[in-house]
Amino acid sequence: MGIRKIDLDRCDGCGICIEACPMDVLRYDTGLRKAFIKYLADCQACLLCEMSCPVNAIYVSPDYERRIPVPIYY
Ligand code: SF4
Ligand code: SF4
Repeated sequence: MGIRKIDLDRCDGCGICIEACPMDVLRYDTGLRKAFIKYLADCQACLLCEMSCPVNAIYVSPDYERRIPVPIYY
């Protein structure tokens, strides 16, 4: 679920997606000077990073992962 990839050929390292992510999923690789996905499990598929990227380098799947059901006791 959530963010699938950052196209490094497109990414120019502007950092907008890193600032846009409310879940702090993305980080900046100072060597490559590109954004990368650091905490994938925290992604909530909100699409903010994809919408904010000026070069369309990010792809987010809108599908949510299946949650493990919590048992309910009566
Ligand atoms: S917003 Fe797009 S171009 Fe800018 S760092 Fe993120 S992926 Fe790269
Ligand atoms: S989809 Fe939302 S939560 Fe996931 S990386 Fe992008 S901005 Fe962050």
